Amino acid sequence: SRATLFDAENKVKITFDDVAGLDEAKEEIKEIVEFLKNPKKFTDLGGKIPKGALLIGPPGTGKTLLAKAVAGEAGVPFFSLSGSDFVEMFVGVGAARVRDLFKQAKEKAPCIIFIDEIDAVGRSRGRGAMPGANDERENTLNSLLVEMDGFATDSGIIILAATNRPDVLDSALMRPGRFDRQISIDKPDIIGREAIFKVHMSSLKLAPDVVANKLAAQTPGFAGAEIMNVCNEAALIAARKNKQAIDMQDFQDAMDRVIGGMEKKNKIISPHE
Ligand code: ATP
Repeated sequence: SRATLFDAENKVKITFDDVAGLDEAKEEIKEIVEFLKNPKKFTDLGGKIPKGALLIGPPGTGKTLLAKAVAGEAGVPFFSLSGSDFVEMFVGVGAARVRDLFKQAKEKAPCIIFIDEIDAVGRSRGRGAMPGANDERENTLNSLLVEMDGFATDSGIIILAATNRPDVLDSALMRPGRFDRQISIDKPDIIGREAIFKVHMSSLKLAPDVVANKLAAQTPGFAGAEIMNVCNEAALIAARKNKQAIDMQDFQDAMDRVIGGMEKKNKIISPHE
């Protein structure tokens, strides 16, 4: 059925308050919220509203979260799909899926289309790891470019795409009228990590010894996704010990566990790099 082709959320509850840190990125992306809420204000003066923006940054830093917050702030539907879903697709399926996505988005406009891991489809044409898989990937990319060129800038659709490999992207994607805006998202510094801890702690029962800025100081190199994991692990560890509140020791144990997981993942990933 249609629902299996991509995720469509009609009521997004995430707002900028859920996104900690990332002040510059938020500032830049706020303009897109304005375009969605009040396009006429811009088009009346003859301006062309951008069709797309690229969110560039390492895994787990909140790119998806920020894209959802744009939809939540503007009060528009959020359609999402991941570039990696196209990689092992039968001939014609990827391109058809892209066309269907845009068809539905046009019916629901104003809206956001979010394409995660766009590098999986958007690698520059003529390069790529898997021979054979390439043709279909290129078909999918071509159909994405055709769809992006095919709607008017005032149609109320804005496409956000995320990548951590901007270097491999086909330059056609970045042409004017496509993803001509780029917003970079970095791993959080200590202040950012403290803010992210606070967001994820707000729903937890904490012991008085838990201090967000101490945890931030102990987690250099952590992205938001890992901080979220630490908070969740800490809650599970405390529950297993039948505690009434989560204390600093639980966070300590949770950090060790998350660091262990990060090291394992790096070992698996590194031979391919
Ligand atoms: P990927 O590139 O792996 O898709 P991403 O950059 O899209 O990652 P998200 O999926 O947005 O990252 O982040 C995963 C989760 O981590 C979020 O749902 C959120 O709970 C948490 N998180 C990440 N960054 C932040 C942040 N800046 N503030 C609050 N929570 C964050």
